[in-house]
This record gives sequence, C-alpha cells and structure tokens, in this order.
Amino acid sequence: MARDKMGRALRDLRVSVTDRCNFRCGYCMPREKFGRHHKFLPNNRILSYEQIQRFIAACIPLGLNKVRITGGEPLLRRDLFELVSMVSSLGLEVALTTNGSLLADQSDKLYRAGLNRVTVSLDALDPKLHSKITDSVIPVGEVIRGIESAVSSGLNPVKVNCVVRRGLNESEVAPLVRHFRGTGVIVRFIEFMDVGSTNRWSFGQVVPTSEVLQTLSSEFDLFPMERKSPTDVASRWAHSDGSGEIGFISSVTEPFCGGCVRARLSSDGKLFTCLFSNKGYDLADRLTFSEPIQVLTAEISKIWSARSDRYSELRSPKPNSLPRVEMSYIGG
Ligand code: SAM
Ligand code: SF4
Ligand code: SF4
Repeated sequence: MARDKMGRALRDLRVSVTDRCNFRCGYCMPREKFGRHHKFLPNNRILSYEQIQRFIAACIPLGLNKVRITGGEPLLRRDLFELVSMVSSLGLEVALTTNGSLLADQSDKLYRAGLNRVTVSLDALDPKLHSKITDSVIPVGEVIRGIESAVSSGLNPVKVNCVVRRGLNESEVAPLVRHFRGTGVIVRFIEFMDVGSTNRWSFGQVVPTSEVLQTLSSEFDLFPMERKSPTDVASRWAHSDGSGEIGFISSVTEPFCGGCVRARLSSDGKLFTCLFSNKGYDLADRLTFSEPIQVLTAEISKIWSARSDRYSELRSPKPNSLPRVEMSYIGG
C-alpha cells in the first residue's frame, strides 16, 4: 500500500472524464473566462474508457477502493454507463458527481451498470436564482427530475451538494432542507473555495458552516452524528424526528487535509495530488498497454509517496495570485 509523506493512503480517485460543461456556474466556469473562445481539450487528448480503466487498475494494489466520476459535466460524455461498468468490474465502489441536468434519462442505465452512489449539485430551488447561478437556460426542474429518477432507479445514497455564497443563495439553505426532508436524499452544504484562478474568490463570500447551521437550527431540531470514517469530508447532522440527514463540508473553516486520501486524474491523463495544485504528473503516455501494469503502479506509487500537500490547512484568508488548476478540468 502507498503512503504519502504524512502517512495518508491513496483510497479515493476522482476521475474527470471531460473538461466541458453545459452550465457556467460563476464559482467554477465563469462565462467571461469560459466563453466561446475558451479552448477546451481536443478530443484526441481525452482519455478513452480503456485508458481510464487501466489507470484505475494500476491504483488498486496501492490501496484504492473508491472511484468518483466527475468533470466538467460527466454525463456529457457518450455512454458513460460503459465506464461505470468497467470500473465496477474491478470490484471498486463507483460514485458520480453531476449537475443533474442529464441524469433523468440515464439513471436506470447507470444503476444497472453498477453505479453505487450519486451526488447532484444544486445551489437553488428558485428557478430564477438557479438559472442565474448556473448561467444556463436549462430549468431547475430538469435537475430535480434527475434527482427523483436517481432515487427511483435505486441509487443509494443520493446526495445534493449546495455551495453557499454570501449575498447569492443563503436564502436557499432552508428551502433545500425542507424540500428533501423525508425523501432519503442527503443535502450537504459546501463552503465556497478558492479553487482555480478565475472565480474571483474572496473570504467575504464564504458562508461558514457555523452560520448555515445556526440558520437551520432556528427551524429544524438537528443533532450531530458520528462521521462514518475519519477520512469522511462531511460532518453529519440529523433531524431529531428521524426524517433525514444533512452534511457540511467546511473546506475553508475546518480543513481536513490530515485525512485527505484523494487523488485526481484529469481527462487528458494528468495525476494531481491536491485540488489546489498547479502541477499534474502527465501519465497519458503511460496508458498505452505496451508495458506491464506494474510499471504504471510503481510510477503512481512514487508520485504518491512524495506527496506532502495540505493547501487548505495553510490557506491565508487573503486571495492569492498563485496559478491553480481549474476545478472543471481537474474534477470536483
Ligand atoms: N459538473 C458536475 C457538478 O457540478 O456536480 C461535476 C463537476 S463540479 C466541478 C463538482 C463539484 O464542485 C460541484 O458540486 C460544484 O458545486 C463544486 N464546486 C465547483 N467550484 C467550487 C468552488 N469554487 N467551491 C466549492 N465547490 C465548488
Ligand atoms: Fe459545470 Fe459543475 Fe462547474 Fe457548474 S460546478 S460549471 S455544473 S462543472
Ligand atoms: Fe486534500 Fe489538498 Fe484539499 Fe487538503 S487542500 S483536503 S490535501 S485536496
């Protein structure tokens, strides 16, 4: 098993299958930077499903047990269920993060292919606010339909991720909890992060978990629950009447680098050991099937063993101008 310089294992791999998206959320792909002239990766540089499967297989001897498929918007990739099936056949847990807009028509196929869990990003139920945040004409109703069909397909758990930004969608926090209470869907609130270099992050726009919790506590009777594992990123709370669970991902106010067992693979084959890296290790040429898979395992192990990342623990409240990779490229 591989351990990095802080003794952290490599358990969780996030695979970005595309850097493209049909939304333009301001905190991730602001249209002024990701407009018509933005150069996305050309198709000939995007890894095939076979190359992705090979990379994942090479990580298994190092301790990998979970893969999350993400992007950009992963459901834009043709026949994504085939990749799900290929990963599932390796005996790993397979999860998906999606904006939900294309989920309704694919959830049955994904479930049958072996998808274990899905997280849908939804920052507002209010139709006008949702289209403002996503800068898209796709109605919020499509996302809700996607969430409902994920539940009826049998995916479990289905989670909803909401990034809370000051002055934008604090008013949506309670309605989201109200809407999904009693449905089995777990809503999680995420602090706005300074990921990438285009989203004009400032500390003032971060709504700390403590504040969200205080807002919710005035309406709901919530009690804290144990984390499922010490490497879980979310703190868990539950309604006292048993009507559901809520999560908080406090990446800014309570960083969790000490338990970070996550690596990321970009859609063009670069391995990143931290969400805030500016340097990926280009392994695309090593996914050619011309050498034994053990050689690739050894290369990944070498990279992981040299890892000492803990950006969030060292973050300064002031925005900095260090170049950082975009989340839509590296995978959220
Ligand atoms: N398109 C898919 C989606 O939106 O779920 C998958 C990729 S997206 C980059 C993954 C997650 O990253 C989403 O839940 C999104 O809300 C989150 N995200 C993007 N930029 C963020 C930021 N600056 N701070 C916190 N979360 C962010
Ligand atoms: Fe697209 Fe997801 Fe980024 Fe929004 S958060 S722009 S849906 S990749
Ligand atoms: Fe992991 Fe880097 Fe995030 Fe810390 S800042 S939790 S090391 S991805």
